[in-house]
Amino acid sequence: MPYHHILVAVDLTEECHPVMQRAQALALCSQAKLSLVHIVEPMAMAFGGDVPMDLSMLQQQQFDQARERLDSFAGTYPQLATEQRHLTYGQPRQEIHRLAEDQGCDLIVVGSHGRHGLALLLGSTANDVLHGAPCDVLAVRLKKS
Ligand code: AMP
Repeated sequence: MPYHHILVAVDLTEECHPVMQRAQALALCSQAKLSLVHIVEPMAMAFGGDVPMDLSMLQQQQFDQARERLDSFAGTYPQLATEQRHLTYGQPRQEIHRLAEDQGCDLIVVGSHGRHGLALLLGSTANDVLHGAPCDVLAVRLKKS
C-alpha cells in the first residue's frame, strides 16, 4: 500500500541528507506528498526548565537562526515548496507527533544512530518518536562518520 503523506524530521546536521534522500525516494515511488520539520528545543528545556532569567530574546535569535538553517537545508531540495517546511518550538517527539496528526501524515521518517550501551540509556529521538506515534515510523540508519 503506498504512503500518501510522508513527514521527514531533520536536526539540520549534515547527517540529515541521507534521511531526506530516503524520504524523497519513498515519496517518489509512492507519489506521496513530502513535508519537512525541524523542531527548535526551547533553551529552558535544554537547561532543565530551571533558568532564572528572561530567555525570550535569545529564543527569538535561536528561532531566527533555525529558520535560516532550515531554508538553506531545504534549498538543496528545490522541489520542496515553502509550505512543506515546518519549523516549530518544543519537544521533538511531541511536535513530530502533533504535526503528523495535523497534516494527516501516514509515515514519519527519522534518522537513527543505532546506539548501544550507555548511549542507549540517554535515549534517542528515533526511539522517542516510535513510542505513541500516530502512524508508521521509518528509522533510517545513520552511518558513523
Ligand atoms: P538523535 O538520535 O536524537 O541524534 O536524532 C536522530 C534523528 O532524530 C535525526 O536524524 C532527526 O531525524 C531527528 N531529530 C533529532 N532532533 C531533531 C529536531 N530538533 N528536529 C527534528 N528532527 C530531529
